[in-house]
Amino acid sequence: MLTVAPEQPLVRLEPDKRPHAVVIGSGFGGLAAAVRLGARGYRVTVLERLDAPGGRAYVHRQDGYTFDAGPTIITAPFLFEELWAMCGAKLSDDVELRAIDPFYDLAFADGERMSCGSAMRDEIARIAPGDLAGYDRFMRRSEEIYRVGFEQLGAAPFHSWTEMVRVAPDLLRLGGLESVYGLVSRYVRDPRVRIALSFHPLFVGGNPFSTTAVYCLISYLERRHGVHFAMGGTGALVQGLVKLIRGQGGVVRCNAEVAEITLNNGAANGVRLTSGEKLRADIVVSNADSAHTYGRLVPAAARKTWTDRRLAAARYSMSLFVWYFGTRRQYPDVPHHTILLGPRYRELIEDIFTAKRLAPDMSLYLHRPTATDPSLAPEGCDGFYVLSPVPHLDADIDWSVEAEPYRRRVQQRLSETLLPGLADGIVTSRVMTPLDFRDQLCAPKGAAFGLEPILTQSAWFRPHNRSGDIKGLYLVGAGTHPGAGVPGVLSSARVLDSVVPHASELTPA
Ligand SMILES: Cc1cc2nc3c(=O)[nH]c(=O)nc-3n(C[C@H](O)[C@H](O)[C@H](O)COP(=O)(O)OP(=O)(O)OC[C@H]3O[C@@H](n4cnc5c(N)ncnc54)[C@H](O)[C@@H]3O)c2cc1C
Repeated sequence: MLTVAPEQPLVRLEPDKRPHAVVIGSGFGGLAAAVRLGARGYRVTVLERLDAPGGRAYVHRQDGYTFDAGPTIITAPFLFEELWAMCGAKLSDDVELRAIDPFYDLAFADGERMSCGSAMRDEIARIAPGDLAGYDRFMRRSEEIYRVGFEQLGAAPFHSWTEMVRVAPDLLRLGGLESVYGLVSRYVRDPRVRIALSFHPLFVGGNPFSTTAVYCLISYLERRHGVHFAMGGTGALVQGLVKLIRGQGGVVRCNAEVAEITLNNGAANGVRLTSGEKLRADIVVSNADSAHTYGRLVPAAARKTWTDRRLAAARYSMSLFVWYFGTRRQYPDVPHHTILLGPRYRELIEDIFTAKRLAPDMSLYLHRPTATDPSLAPEGCDGFYVLSPVPHLDADIDWSVEAEPYRRRVQQRLSETLLPGLADGIVTSRVMTPLDFRDQLCAPKGAAFGLEPILTQSAWFRPHNRSGDIKGLYLVGAGTHPGAGVPGVLSSARVLDSVVPHASELTPA
């Protein structure tokens, strides 16, 4: 795996006179923004409050195991390749992305298994032959949505009403008012096939029964560009981006928490850290959660759009309970990605998003990266994480009490299904609860994916990539347009190219 020395100052003989861009946060959105700003002539400083970059893609190393904290499914590799190309480099020289096929296995409560990937048609023909024609038509629709929703709108700036009015007919024609599940159900009938084609919004914090059908584009995105894993773990992509930033003469500073975005006549002119240190900047890009940026880093008096009231009334995505564990033995029959479904689908999702209670049953995503890269665990061992969608912190659940009983329930479910004898084989373990999303990642309500991706919080209705309230402030990441997921946040950084002036148009601060 590519590693980057903690400090690699670039020796400059001349003082660096480039305009200064400060990026708050080192998630994929922030790191991609930094590379793009560096390529557009800025001197970039990334400030990260944690002790290492990556945000949701932080890496935990313990007892010889490497655990990616968050994203594991890389679906649009060309968005990374583009960043490397901007620096005159090649992604494949730094990171090996390996295609995974099948993309993931679904394990249904009735015992049926379904491999989703390039052989999806064969799987549908086996499980629900009557749905084959409908599946083909759904995939054509998914492609159509992808062409507009991803290729045209994903990296388009939505900071004016006129842009929204311009695309509204397309959004409506493609099913913007319908839910993902609603659209899928018009094409296929088998309940298992409906699940297989509709669960994707959960990957970006959305409820399949209320997320706009525009998210049906994910099915085609996966088929068109594949599902990949970064060898060495997703952290290899984080390290690769940090290397690009340093190569441009930029700086990534960890343990540097921003307390405030400083303003001059209503325009951002720098940041103040919790340590008291002040940094002047020509532009500020926040990759912190958009509700945290507006609610905590910008004074209320300077905000007309994202007022405290609006932030409180917004709908936030679900949270997650994640258990990372290593076993002293291997489970060679368990594929890289498995989705283990419980007996209920719609009702469980209602418990998470609407009733906001911890359900008695659970649906789990099990990640076994050692299926592809054994170097992530000691020899003969397996590393895993298992993720359970749970309500965000508006729910009446005390995770400081519930975490261990819930972890035991998850362990029990895994022992009974995919990982027999698990209890005796665990050698290392750690959990992440909604409290960690709130306290470690500054995610309001502990929401794992920022604002929920419903139509009324999408595109123009989502916090804009160029702040409407504060001149010189830009936003990237899951809580902005287009939304969560690695392709989404990389696309949010892409929007900057059309809304941030080139450095040559500015006088340095
Ligand atoms: C468990 C999990 C699994 C996932 N799996 C996938 C997947 O397989 N594929 C996929 O595409 N997506 C996946 N996602 C979603 C994806 O990981 C996220 O949407 C994306 O990584 C978020 O990136 P971001 O740019 O919004 O920044 P974040 O990762 O949210 O990072 C923001 C950073 O800002 C820092 N910060 C906040 N406030 C301050 C401050 N005041 N000062 C300094 N720093 C600050 C935080 O510490 C953090 O490091 C997953 C998410 C989770 C949680």
